[in-house]
Amino acid sequence: MILHSIDAGYFKLDGGAMFGVVPKTFWNKLIPADENNLCSWMMRCLLIEDGNQLILIDTGMGDKQDAKWQGYYYRHGEGELVKSIRAKRYSENDVTDVILSHLHFDHCGGSVKWNAERTKFEMTFPNARYWTHSEHFESAIHPNPREKATFFRDNILPIQEANQLFFVDKVAEKPFKNIEILTADGHTEKMLMPKISYQNKEIIFIADTIPSHAHIPVPYVMGYDIRPLQTMIEKDNLLSKASENEWIIFFDHDPLYDCATVQRTEKGFALKEKGSLVEFF
Ligand SMILES: [Zn+2]
Repeated sequence: MILHSIDAGYFKLDGGAMFGVVPKTFWNKLIPADENNLCSWMMRCLLIEDGNQLILIDTGMGDKQDAKWQGYYYRHGEGELVKSIRAKRYSENDVTDVILSHLHFDHCGGSVKWNAERTKFEMTFPNARYWTHSEHFESAIHPNPREKATFFRDNILPIQEANQLFFVDKVAEKPFKNIEILTADGHTEKMLMPKISYQNKEIIFIADTIPSHAHIPVPYVMGYDIRPLQTMIEKDNLLSKASENEWIIFFDHDPLYDCATVQRTEKGFALKEKGSLVEFF
C-alpha cells in the first residue's frame, strides 16, 4: 500500500465563515486573511494504491463552471487534480474507486468534466466506482436552503447517469480491505471520513470536520456547518480517539500541512506534530 497527497489547487473563502463564532484576532494568527478578509485554502485529495485498487478521496472543485463563478473563489496555485495524479505516474483510467467525502462543490467538482468539444459532460475517472452515502446523496439532490448553493447538479447527476454511483451503506461486502468509513452529521448529512490502516498506523481523512490544523480546538467550528453543536460532539469524540491512539489526521483544506497529530492538554485538544504526508511515514 502506498499513499499520495494530491494537490487539486487552492481557492479562497471568507475567514470569518471558516471559523464561525471564533474572533478574527484568534484565527488570523494561524491563517492570515488578505485585504478582503479571504483566506487561501487548499483542495487536498488523498490517493491510495492498495493491491489492485487505486482509490482517490475527493476531487476538488474541477473546472466546469464559468470564469465569473470561478472568480468568486479565486482559484489559484499550480495544482490541478489530474495533473497531480499524473505526476505520481498514474492515469485517470487507473483509478478504480473515488470516495467523495461529501458533495459540496469543493470536494466533488473534479469528478465530472466537459468533453473535448465542450458539448457534454463525461466522467474524469471512467473506470471508477464513485462512493457516497445514500442519505447524503438524498440531501444533495433535495437540498435544504442553507446548502443549496454548494450542491451543483452538474457535479452529481452525471455520476448517477453514468451508472458509476455507489452507496457505502448499501453494499453487502466491505469495498475496501484497509479502509474503515466513519461518518459525521455536523458539517453536512452523513459526510464520509475514511480511516486507513497504513504501515501499522491509522490515518483519517477527517474532511470538513477539521479542515485545517487551525481548526483543532473543539469550538473552532466552520460557519458553514448545518449542525454546529453536533460537530463539536463529533470533534471531541474523534480528537479523543486520535490523541489516545496516535491517529494521523489528514487535512482537506490546510494551506500548509498535509497532516498532524494531536494531544490532550489542560486547555483541551491541541496540535502535537504537523507536516507533510511523507514526513509522517
Ligand atoms: Zn470543504
